[in-house]
Amino acid sequence: MEGQSLGTSGAVAVFALFLALAGLETVRPAQTPAKGWASRWLGNTAMYLLTGGLFMLPLLASLTTAAIAAAAWRGALDALGLFRPLQVIVGVLALDATVYATHRALHRFAPLWRVHAVHHSDPDLDVTTTLRHHPAEAVFSAGMMAIAVFILGISSVSIAAYALLEAAVQLAAHANVALPRRLDAILRSVIVTPGYHCLHHSRDVAETDTNYSQVFTIWDRLFRTASDSAAERPRIDFGLDDFRDSRSQRPDRLLAQPLLPRQIAVGGLASPRQGWQGQFNTELH
Ligand SMILES: [Zn+2]
Repeated sequence: MEGQSLGTSGAVAVFALFLALAGLETVRPAQTPAKGWASRWLGNTAMYLLTGGLFMLPLLASLTTAAIAAAAWRGALDALGLFRPLQVIVGVLALDATVYATHRALHRFAPLWRVHAVHHSDPDLDVTTTLRHHPAEAVFSAGMMAIAVFILGISSVSIAAYALLEAAVQLAAHANVALPRRLDAILRSVIVTPGYHCLHHSRDVAETDTNYSQVFTIWDRLFRTASDSAAERPRIDFGLDDFRDSRSQRPDRLLAQPLLPRQIAVGGLASPRQGWQGQFNTELH
């Protein structure tokens, strides 16, 4: 019962943050949107409302696995004999590392990229982009989280704390809000900020494949995928070369997008991602 009311309070706090950021975007935007907001907002929020249950899947799978693992064995973290609060913090960091690895895989392997590209195909970036994920991505993420939770024996307290932290940081990271440059620079040394994450949504593939971190930026620095090159730029061109028109923002088109044909990237087989797209299109045509 206590857990349930905490969950409700958390959900209310996240929704309040969503509204606050949406308001702030009108007062202090980082850049003027390239497209109209109406079609994007409809598509992005519809994706969340249509498949809202599935977006909760990684959390539900993690909590269920935590309960099963707790009954089955002590778990690697427990075996370390850490002081309990420290164990919760290590659990949170382990979950964030798992999400970082999941995100790298979503960009690296062609079929996974097709699914994750739904998130990247938003031609603008704002707080609603956070909601724009294909349900198949939630299934893959849930599997990765469940494996990490089972092996490490991550507790339900760590899982709940991370879910709240991740939701708050991700909403803020996608918001079209210009933080004072100095504040953004200080914050990004620890957590993902709007000025840091925006580069990950650049239309330039080389820039898209940077700044993968979800909550803590340490993973990007550790695995050399961090870039600060957005800091001095007045404007970034967001999205992909494909799916830029307003029809592509419709909920049905977003759901079908992983299977839709797209342009063959220049260079064809330059990367596994582009090569698979090329092969796919060759088969279709
Ligand atoms: Zn991504």
